Amino acid sequence: ELKDKETIEAKNYINKVFETVKQRNPNESEFHQVVKEMFDSLVPVFAKHPVYMEQSILERIVEPERVITFRVPWVDDQGKVHVNRGFRVQFNSAIGPYKGGLRFHPSVNASIIKFLGFEQIFKNALTGQPIGGGKGGSDFDPKGKSDGEIMKFTQSFMLELFRHIGPDVDVPAGDIGVGRREIGYMFGQYKRIRGGYEAGILTGKGLEYGGSLTRTEATGYGTVYFVQEMLKEKGLSFTGSTVVVSGSGNVSTYAIEKALQLGAKVVACSDSDGYIYDPNGISLDTVKRLKEVERNRILEYVKEHPHAQYFEGCSGIWSIPCDIALPCATQNEIDESAAEMLVANGVKAIGEGANMPSTSEAINVFLRNNILFGPAKAANAGGVAVSALEMAQNSSRLSWTFEEVDAKLQHIMINIYRNSVKAAEDYGYSGNLIAGANIAGFKKAADAMIAQGV
Ligand code: GLU
Repeated sequence: ELKDKETIEAKNYINKVFETVKQRNPNESEFHQVVKEMFDSLVPVFAKHPVYMEQSILERIVEPERVITFRVPWVDDQGKVHVNRGFRVQFNSAIGPYKGGLRFHPSVNASIIKFLGFEQIFKNALTGQPIGGGKGGSDFDPKGKSDGEIMKFTQSFMLELFRHIGPDVDVPAGDIGVGRREIGYMFGQYKRIRGGYEAGILTGKGLEYGGSLTRTEATGYGTVYFVQEMLKEKGLSFTGSTVVVSGSGNVSTYAIEKALQLGAKVVACSDSDGYIYDPNGISLDTVKRLKEVERNRILEYVKEHPHAQYFEGCSGIWSIPCDIALPCATQNEIDESAAEMLVANGVKAIGEGANMPSTSEAINVFLRNNILFGPAKAANAGGVAVSALEMAQNSSRLSWTFEEVDAKLQHIMINIYRNSVKAAEDYGYSGNLIAGANIAGFKKAADAMIAQGV
């Protein structure tokens, strides 16, 4: 039958390109993982629209438009000189200026930045905002560094990055290890170098100098808004549910806040050393003070709340029974056995607040068991969506109210949900939001590339 022939052709083409990706990018397991997940969803799309094969669209889309690596020298408080490696991957500009965060973490390497940059292309396309895909960062470890050291490092980082970015070229923001403070120091450094005020050069800025209300809350709130839509479809809600949220950074904090506002009980959160379990429901005020103000470890929580328990290590958090799990820490934090534990304990929905927090084996466990699953590129798109709204406010020299931005964020998350549902249905993946989000994001970016010629 003709349909089978087209499916086989599409599969062969996709497999061939994936082999090339592995050959050209050796030892980049995270990048391979994210490309594979995207490619697996695209078979019916290529079978139906051979134009994508004729246009060699996959070969083009997996190759970043530009990869920049650079030396970042800096001097610590003792006067010792250190050198870190800086990265910026300008992956795809078909829909708008490159857009995506900067991650400062010792695990950062080319594979991590490329997986994040690739994911960003489709996430950004899904938001419906005019932003392309990019990502950057450094293997610098901010843990235990003084404020002065953070300032010196970020200034040195920007001393090279500035020549590659611009409000209509590439607009970085935060990610793991990069928050308000770091964005502030980088913004100041960029302004000093350029000798002009370009508010739209970075997003996630402070409210005093061009930041947007709701940007801080956006990723976490957006993840909860997305999960709320998934639950609604099944007649479920956050009200009265038990929730486990990993992480205790920006994404996690505001996912917890919104879940609480919707009447959920959040019983656990974590940092890179361990997790806390508070059967009474964790105190968000304590978590916020410890992490945002004191920059302390989550372990300190149990000193103030002695009925809560602290456990070392991160994966154990998934053994806590819950209705809704929101992985908001980092990549591959839920593996196959963690997924099996969640399912065995009756989890109903997963919302990925972090980037690629579930391994492909974990995803298969959730899909096999028909667990509602909100994939990262859809469920955590609220952060970058509000970054695009920050850019819009900067360009128009206006600032919108919290309520205005929050309403736009909700609208965007609902649209992402609906577009993902529809794309899944159109291509024979009914109910599978992973495939739906992949297809909807891919088609938008790919069609824009084709329209703009080779
Ligand atoms: N780092 C966030 C993400 O993974 C936000 C990026 C941005 O606001 O540009 O999408």
